Amino acid sequence: MIAPWTATVLTLFPEMFPGPLGHSLAGKALERGLWRLETVDIRAFARDKHRSVDDAPFGGGPGMVLRPDVVDAAIAGIAGRPGPLLYLSPRGHRLDQERVARLSEGPGVRLLCGRFEGVDERVIEAHAIEELSLGDFVLSGGEPAAIALIDACVRLLPGVIGDAAAVAEESFTGNLLEYPHYTRPQEWRGRAVPEILISGHHDKVRQWRQAQAEAATQTRRPDLWQRYLARKRDRH
Ligand code: SAH
Repeated sequence: MIAPWTATVLTLFPEMFPGPLGHSLAGKALERGLWRLETVDIRAFARDKHRSVDDAPFGGGPGMVLRPDVVDAAIAGIAGRPGPLLYLSPRGHRLDQERVARLSEGPGVRLLCGRFEGVDERVIEAHAIEELSLGDFVLSGGEPAAIALIDACVRLLPGVIGDAAAVAEESFTGNLLEYPHYTRPQEWRGRAVPEILISGHHDKVRQWRQAQAEAATQTRRPDLWQRYLARKRDRH
C-alpha cells in the first residue's frame, strides 16, 4: 500500500496538534488513515542546558529570533519525510486554492512554524525554504497557519469529502467565488428563497448560479474577476 498524504510539522507547541484537525472532516479522515500527521518539537533539538531555542536579534530591536542551528537540527531530524519544506510566514507568497490543490496532489508537506519575531534568515536560505503566507495580517505563531493549510489540503484528498462535486464547484475553482446557498425553511422572516431554485429547471438553476457567482466575484473581488476574464479570453 502506498503511504497516505503526510503532514510533518516542526513546532514549539506540538500540543496544539491535531487541535481542530482532530475533528469533523479532517479528524474522521485522520482516523480512517486517509492522511497522517506527525509533530516534531523544535525544543528537543536545543543544545544547551537551558534548552533555549531563541535569542535576541543582532542589530537590536524587540523580540526574539529562532536560532538557525536549532532549526537546522530539527529539519535534519525530519529528513526523509515526504513533501516540500515550507515556512509559514507573513513575508511569504500568499497561499491560494491552486497551490493547496497542488500540495494535496503531492505526497505531503513539511511545515516549519515560527514563533516570536520569526526564524533566523540564514537557515531559510541554507535550505532554500519556500515561505507561504495566509494573508496580510500577523499571527503570533505559525501553528494556526499550518492547521489552516493542512485542513485545506486534507479536504481535497480522495475519499475525504464523499461528494466530489462539492469540491469541483466551490469558491476559487476557475477564479470565481461560489454562488449563494439556501436551505429550509423556504420562507424565513419574510424572505423567500429565490424562485428559480424551486422551479426544478436544472439548466436554469445552473445558469442562475453561474450569473450569481460572476456578480459576486465582480463586486467583492475585482482582482479575481480580472483573472477570470483574462482566462476566459485566453480560451477563445
Ligand atoms: N516579525 C514578523 C512576524 C512574526 S509572527 C514579521 O513582522 O514579519 C510569528 C510567527 O507567526 C512567524 O514566524 C510565522 O511563522 C507566523 N505567522 C505570522 N503571520 C503569519 C501569516 N500571515 N501567515 C503565515 N504565518 C504567519
